[in-house]
Amino acid sequence: MFELMLGRMGEFDLIETFFKRPARHATLGVGDDCALLAVPTGQQLAISSDMLVEGRHFLSTVSPRHLGHKALAVNLSDLAACGARPKAFLLALALPELVPHWLSEFSQGLWDLADAHQCDLIGGDTTRGPLNICITVLGEVSAAQALLRSGAQVGDDIYVSGTLGDARLALEVFRGHLEVPSAVFDAARLRMEMPTPRIALGLALRGLATSAADISDGFLGDLQHILKASGVGATIETASVAATLASAKNCHLPLSTQLNLTLAGGDDYELVFTAPEGLRSAVTAAAMASGTSVSRVGRITGSCDLILLDSEGNHMANHFQSFDHFKTP
Ligand code: ADP
Ligand code: MG
Repeated sequence: MFELMLGRMGEFDLIETFFKRPARHATLGVGDDCALLAVPTGQQLAISSDMLVEGRHFLSTVSPRHLGHKALAVNLSDLAACGARPKAFLLALALPELVPHWLSEFSQGLWDLADAHQCDLIGGDTTRGPLNICITVLGEVSAAQALLRSGAQVGDDIYVSGTLGDARLALEVFRGHLEVPSAVFDAARLRMEMPTPRIALGLALRGLATSAADISDGFLGDLQHILKASGVGATIETASVAATLASAKNCHLPLSTQLNLTLAGGDDYELVFTAPEGLRSAVTAAAMASGTSVSRVGRITGSCDLILLDSEGNHMANHFQSFDHFKTP
């Protein structure tokens, strides 16, 4: 069917065919100059944008279906970090050419994740150009409950969700810097291409976590954002962070590699958050209820330093470099 349409298909057929579905939450979705979204009394909109550029955020080898998933997942991850419930998103898309099969797969990856979180596509923009995907997500959270980076308190525990470092491991295999058994690579590649936004955990942590951020550029770098915003320091047990690397359970990796991947890997889309020591069992219950594992990896301190401890409790030098678009080569 798509092949028949190819010769005649234009910008508006493309939107109609691949990106228009009835809105469930929005008053008005795709098709007019603006979408309309009502905000219930007492709620505020949580809004965030993330852009994906080929070669920077994804490799040309990624399937369009996985790319559709990832484009939305990295955005939903920001809502998770804020403790917001997803409602809607906008999709700005630059495409070098109109390839119906690619669009069909890409939109399916997008719809599958959108449906899992009941998040409506309510509008966007479409243009010809080098492949670039920019999504803006909108979520709801009540004013008192939003999780912010600025609330960490001295004495709080520091936690991470899920597993860290596997996405970076897959990237390093692609780059030819690491070799692992194919089953390990396949699992790590899925973590890189199909990250899981921790929405349920973010919602469950409302009222418990004093601060939160999602881990996109690397654990230590994203933790530093919390420390800076909260005006505090931290002590991190690096072995507890390294232990989250799922790949290491199925192949031998030197400790130095495990540390590099988990402390500064990037592309994890897990949450780093803080909570008072007295709420440990409540945090465990929130993690269980949301079906997400969490690991306690350190503590907030009053000094403004970030101290890394090895498994014997000795200080380690922090040579770990998180991702920065203008500093990282
Ligand atoms: P305008 O010219 O007012 O910017 P467009 O003509 O670009 O609007 O888009 C027409 C309608 O299609 C709008 O409702 C817009 O939000 C929607 N739209 C455009 N591109 C996309 C897309 N990639 N995904 C979803 N909706 C889109
Ligand atoms: Mg218009």
